[in-house]
Amino acid sequence: MILILLGPPGVGKGTQASRLTKTRGLVQLSTGDMLREAIANGTELGRKAKSIMDEGKLVADDIILGMIAERLSSPDCANGVILDGFPRTIEQAKGLDTMLVEMGLSVNHVIEMQVDENILADRILKRAQESEQVRDDDNVEVLKKRLKVYHENTAPIIPYYKDGGKVSVVDGMQPIEDVAAAIDRILNGQEG
Ligand code: ADP
Repeated sequence: MILILLGPPGVGKGTQASRLTKTRGLVQLSTGDMLREAIANGTELGRKAKSIMDEGKLVADDIILGMIAERLSSPDCANGVILDGFPRTIEQAKGLDTMLVEMGLSVNHVIEMQVDENILADRILKRAQESEQVRDDDNVEVLKKRLKVYHENTAPIIPYYKDGGKVSVVDGMQPIEDVAAAIDRILNGQEG
């Protein structure tokens, strides 16, 4: 099972992905987490990525595709993955398709999580207040940039997948459990 969670920063992709790892035995592949890990480990990739991320811009497609390729082929991912924060550009979506074809796989579901963007600043400030390690990009100024990048680069992926009839929409304004239930209905084929 290859599941993609798509939606703007702060919509709740990470929260839902983490739950799905427990309930469905899928592995969560979050490119944002991978990059933050590289930064924490002080690797060359981490050093390069840090300033880009702090500005809310996107890390280069080839770097991201390389990270995903390495993880996708590892044995722990054999049962399936939830892609969280990837793909973020059409190039990444195409690169993913190429990788999957080689593996005899394809994207099963794309779940677009929608939200009223006026509440995102509140959510992200709350996340910054509640977490022990505050992300350098969790502030209102960078959020605005990340939203702009989302609309310019990532939202255009939706029509790319819509053509294949794989996109379902979930209302991310609902309580966490209700969003989870809506995602479960989609994955169980009980949508609509
Ligand atoms: P959020 O979904 O809350 O915006 P992420 O943790 O997914 O945050 O990503 C944080 C930052 O990491 C992004 O703003 C970007 O700089 C970088 N990043 C993460 N995933 C990708 C990706 N697939 N392509 C390019 N850059 C990425």
